[in-house]
Amino acid sequence: ETEDERTAQASQLFENFVQASTCKGTLQAFSILCRQLELDPLDYSNFYSSLKTAITSWKVKALWTKLDKRAEHKVYNQGKACQGTRCLIIGGGPCGLRTAIELALLGCKVVVIEKRDTFSRNNVLHLWPYTIHDLRGLGAKKFYGKFCAGSIDHISIRQLQLMLLKVCLILGVEIHVNIEFIKLVEPPEEQHEDSPGWRAEIRPSSHQVSEFDFDVVIGADGRRNTLDGFSRKEFRGKLAIAITANFVNRNTTAEAKVEEISGVAFIFNQKFFLELREETGIDLENIVYYKDHTHYFVMTAKKQSLLDKGVIINDYIETERLLSNDNVNQEALLSYAREAADFGTNYQLPSLDYAINHYGQPDVAMFDFTCMYASENAALIREKHGHQLLVALVGDSLLEPFWPMGTGCARGFLAAFDTAWMVRGWAQGRSPLEILAERESIYRLLPQTTTENISKNFEQYTIDPATRYPNLNSSCVRPHQVRHLFIDGQQDTCHLERGGPTRRSVNLTRREVRPGRLLTWCQKQTEGYRGVDVTDLTSSWRNGLALCALIHRQRPELIDYDSLNEEDVAGNNQLAFDVAEREFGIQPVTLGKEMARQPEPDKLLMVLYLSKFYEALYRLSS
Ligand code: FAD
Repeated sequence: ETEDERTAQASQLFENFVQASTCKGTLQAFSILCRQLELDPLDYSNFYSSLKTAITSWKVKALWTKLDKRAEHKVYNQGKACQGTRCLIIGGGPCGLRTAIELALLGCKVVVIEKRDTFSRNNVLHLWPYTIHDLRGLGAKKFYGKFCAGSIDHISIRQLQLMLLKVCLILGVEIHVNIEFIKLVEPPEEQHEDSPGWRAEIRPSSHQVSEFDFDVVIGADGRRNTLDGFSRKEFRGKLAIAITANFVNRNTTAEAKVEEISGVAFIFNQKFFLELREETGIDLENIVYYKDHTHYFVMTAKKQSLLDKGVIINDYIETERLLSNDNVNQEALLSYAREAADFGTNYQLPSLDYAINHYGQPDVAMFDFTCMYASENAALIREKHGHQLLVALVGDSLLEPFWPMGTGCARGFLAAFDTAWMVRGWAQGRSPLEILAERESIYRLLPQTTTENISKNFEQYTIDPATRYPNLNSSCVRPHQVRHLFIDGQQDTCHLERGGPTRRSVNLTRREVRPGRLLTWCQKQTEGYRGVDVTDLTSSWRNGLALCALIHRQRPELIDYDSLNEEDVAGNNQLAFDVAEREFGIQPVTLGKEMARQPEPDKLLMVLYLSKFYEALYRLSS
């Protein structure tokens, strides 16, 4: 074998790995690669550089350049920032894998366990500009040539997992599939030199991972987080039933021509929804369509129309029962989603054949978003028999996303970076309470993040939160406020219980505001303002002056009311949206431009939006 032949063979093995299209296939191609090239994947701190030395073909150079550029960020201190730190990550979803990459770059020993061995979700994630930039920086194009070409800003969950898995492996992350995390195992009381530290009980229990000692554990196992000690807060909104549907994409010219539907624009398109209802009996609040590997639709449907169309059989108050398998007519659901998709794309998609899901069934599903969960805290520290363990949540475990808004991956990655930052502080030996207080301070920003209010300078993004959040205050939570998150077995049981799993669900149900009362309050607040005459919860708000007045009444310094121009509908509304978001944490429900485009704002949305003002301001106003 000549040198050239060896180079060519190595490059081919690597290409097989890069092109692998399943989870199992990727792991297999990786192990062949390592075996043939005699690389030891367990030698995690040298693995990446050994791989680079072994694979020198020009085709791969661009990838090495990208990864090198990332690894050179000062925060990683040349892969030594967290030397000696051992991390277990539970869950190989996008957020678990993204966290693993950062921890590996910091120099941690990282083990990921994933209970399944397939990546099978067709559903599509909306990507914010920063996530696209981030993924490109990790070589996304190399792993998936079609990644975000042109104006495309989405990716199927499985493609995303696949590319992140590959980057993980290249960086020396150890990945085990078909391993399910059960619970943490405390270090034993009797301590001698080689006593175990913190470990995990897993299924199957005989697997070597059960002997892995770690000092950081990350819960990235999705909405049903399995790590103890985190209470969840519940946000109960109005009834929201979402349907996802995936149809086969044959990539024909006819299909290519059909336009995507991005949610924001459609929220205000009343005419579309009225026509849909009249023509088909389908009643939706919103619909999103992305052309990806499949034709992917996600829509929020009104209960009554699901009942009328026979999708839901009996009407029950409890949503769980309402949407239980035996109360849903699957055939009717298939027709419902197909009809909505057909209408939404103006009957331009030639054949709407369902793609097949993980269970070999047509890929349609219905989910309840009436209650959404967020963890009360992002991290805690456990100490037992002299061993400290940093426990953190990322992704859906931390903050559940509302899919039609598509915030899951974007906020998930932000939390992944914030968590890596915390691990870095931990490895530097900062005090536990200081680290926890900082983490909670940053976590408070997460639910409010939007594409608009995070830093636009993506090139500067690192795990340092200051590079991403313009209005960062890392010390708004003080160390004494997170005392309960340091669990050292010293507290009395009562204290432990408070932080513990016994009271998981803290109900933060929003106070209901009746529209009549809301209107009266709004009228009182905006009385006497130039150009404002509030007579309803729709058209009176269109030009944005009433919103500005509402803010000005409480905090005159925030808005120069006299300078506002009645004609500048988009500008006035956007100003109010931005100020309310920044100052009161009220999330906007649309854009200023959208307000200008519509003859009158949508009543439901306005009620929702104004209710938040009421909640935020009424104490100040009464
Ligand atoms: P996930 O992607 O949920 O990953 C969690 C991983 O942990 C999974 O691979 C799971 O198998 C594994 N796991 C769970 N428990 C254990 C355990 N005990 N031990 C080991 N491993 C475990 N978002 C949208 O925006 N649009 C959509 O249409 C959409 N559809 C979805 C459909 C489904 C069925 C699911 C589950 C989620 C969907 N999401 C959707 C949410 C989106 O996938 C997540 O926001 C995104 O993937 C980031 O999530 P994550 O990595 O935190 O968790």
